[in-house]
Amino acid sequence: MAIESILDVVLVEKQIFRIIESTVCEFEEIYYQNDIGKEVIGRSCSHCQLVQKYDHPFEILVKA
Ligand SMILES: [Zn+2]
Repeated sequence: MAIESILDVVLVEKQIFRIIESTVCEFEEIYYQNDIGKEVIGRSCSHCQLVQKYDHPFEILVKA
């Protein structure tokens, strides 16, 4: 499954919050916020094929 498809499913109302250099792989890590509350809702790294959703009280971690 492509990381873009996972992103659409896991982080539905996403806007890009900021893009930083990952401390793990040194590629771009993208942080997302939701439309309404402007809360940071998750992050992704296309290099690591990683999508993480911050969803209290738990987190979903998907590796493509
Ligand atoms: Zn990475």
